[in-house]
Amino acid sequence: MSSDYDIVVIGGGHAGAEAASAAARLGATAALVTLSADTIGAMSCNPAIGGVGKGQIVREIDALGGLMGLAADATGLQFRMLNASKGPAVQGPRCQSDRHAYAAHIQHALQHTAGLTIIEAEATQLFVRDGRITGVEITRASGERETLRSGAIIVTAGTFLGGLMHRGTDTWPGGRIGDPTCNALSASLRELGIELGRLKTGTCPRLDADTIDTSQCTRQEGDETPRPFSYLHQSLDVEQLPCWLTATNEAIHQAVRDNFHRAPMYTGQIQSTGPRYCPSFETKVERFADKSSHLVFLEPEGRDTNWVYANGISTSLPEDVQEFMIANIPGLQGAKILQYGYAIEYDFAPPTQLRNTLESKQVAGLYLAGQLNGTTGYEEAAGLGLWAAVNASAKLRGQDPFILRRDQAYLGVMVDDLVTKGVTEPYRMFTSRAEHRLLLRGDNADRRLTPVGRELGLVDDARWQRFESKLAVINATEARLRAFKKNDKTGWDLLRRDDVSVGDVLDDLPADAEALVTLSIDARYAGYLERQTRAVEQLHRLESAAIPDTFDYAAVTQLRHEAR
Ligand code: FAD
Repeated sequence: MSSDYDIVVIGGGHAGAEAASAAARLGATAALVTLSADTIGAMSCNPAIGGVGKGQIVREIDALGGLMGLAADATGLQFRMLNASKGPAVQGPRCQSDRHAYAAHIQHALQHTAGLTIIEAEATQLFVRDGRITGVEITRASGERETLRSGAIIVTAGTFLGGLMHRGTDTWPGGRIGDPTCNALSASLRELGIELGRLKTGTCPRLDADTIDTSQCTRQEGDETPRPFSYLHQSLDVEQLPCWLTATNEAIHQAVRDNFHRAPMYTGQIQSTGPRYCPSFETKVERFADKSSHLVFLEPEGRDTNWVYANGISTSLPEDVQEFMIANIPGLQGAKILQYGYAIEYDFAPPTQLRNTLESKQVAGLYLAGQLNGTTGYEEAAGLGLWAAVNASAKLRGQDPFILRRDQAYLGVMVDDLVTKGVTEPYRMFTSRAEHRLLLRGDNADRRLTPVGRELGLVDDARWQRFESKLAVINATEARLRAFKKNDKTGWDLLRRDDVSVGDVLDDLPADAEALVTLSIDARYAGYLERQTRAVEQLHRLESAAIPDTFDYAAVTQLRHEAR
């Protein structure tokens, strides 16, 4: 049997969901092939969306009409603006999510996407003719095989390719707990000349909320006024749940040190590199030997579940050591472990093999996105999925590639970093990766990207109208501020002072709180924003100078050897 699709997306994680949704919204006939429809949108690790840098990516995905921001708003348990006391460039929205509700929201959205077919199967082999992708063989659970013909295939297999899990001396194959590994697709990619490397990640034990003594922990509330991820929402009406804070101690650290000989991270059992900024607990104990305590955040996994995620103690130590750790943390002395922490090693495809469209340089029509590209995190994966789908669709339609610049979006920074520099460890987004981060704020992603999304056909009428009305509020309020005069200063000038807000200058404020946030930042940082915009323009002039293919880099002795 065989069938035809314009675009086939392999994998229903965060990259695959955005890719499939975007492909179908752009008018392609699309298929999403994934192992199980029930795990589409599953959060493999922490039940949370956003964070510093990551939250900006979610806003960018939303500004382009994507799914993640809407799902996060609909299923959030607690919302916080991280770094709220710092400058706007480094603030990042984050929410604690209801794990099951989040996945259900994404599944519902995809099931109701016109032009998208969801197929439960394993993608087992890619077909190529004359350097171009022509289709994929899928194998259903029954063993039945089928070929899907397509000139554009987006692989978003996450941690599933060659997935090998570790806990203590135990190892077993799998893509994440409860899911199988996918080795056939790894082999197929290799056969096509795609180089694969290995990376590692890990996760924390999950605890039973009913067995936690929260009186020994510090309560952590969400923001008083939760701010939405999606630009379609002006506010959120949500009953927020608290998280709880506790900490490890020296006795636990000593137990970990005593068991390094049983820790796969230290015995040589795990060979690959993990995320530097999300280290395992054993790595923290070793790396920060002078610290006698590390924070543990107890995060609810949902409204209707007693599962709690013990954030901060990701570990692949043996079960008995994990039990000792938990039993010695204040508040957790009687806590029941519902799922032990574990680590996973998996294949990734070094992203320097990709064009900036995320299309393979070796195989035309083959796109790679998500964790497979060497990133870590739901948000990064989702952004890459969207990027790949828009480019696959643009190519099919004979349109220009969809490339966002580094000064235009974190998505642009991420793709540029990946395809030009590659990765030596799982890549996660930080605001420090962006040269022009004051321009790339979470509050203004719609102004940066919604017109781009509209042009592409990703932004529907409802979103466009909401964008236009917000812009109208911003413009009208700015005009009022500039017209207002006090002691020779306009209202716009007065807003540069930290202690002056729009409400101090104008009566009769517009109800659009998000518009006011952007306006206040625009006014307060006007000088910096102008300087940054000038620097970007200067850079554009340099960037647009074409370097001929025949250019002899080796002759430029001023460049470092590696750069040449
Ligand atoms: P995934 O979410 O992994 O989805 C892959 C999808 O592809 C799945 O639906 C799977 O069924 C499907 N699939 C795979 N192969 C095939 C095939 N051949 N045919 C059909 N379907 C296929 N991120 C962090 O930011 N911080 C962390 O601390 C962290 N810890 C993690 C710990 C663990 C144990 C794991 C497993 C992941 C962790 N992550 C962490 C990573 C996070 O889960 C991923 O970044 C994110 O899920 C990647 O999204 P994705 O869409 O690329 O892949």
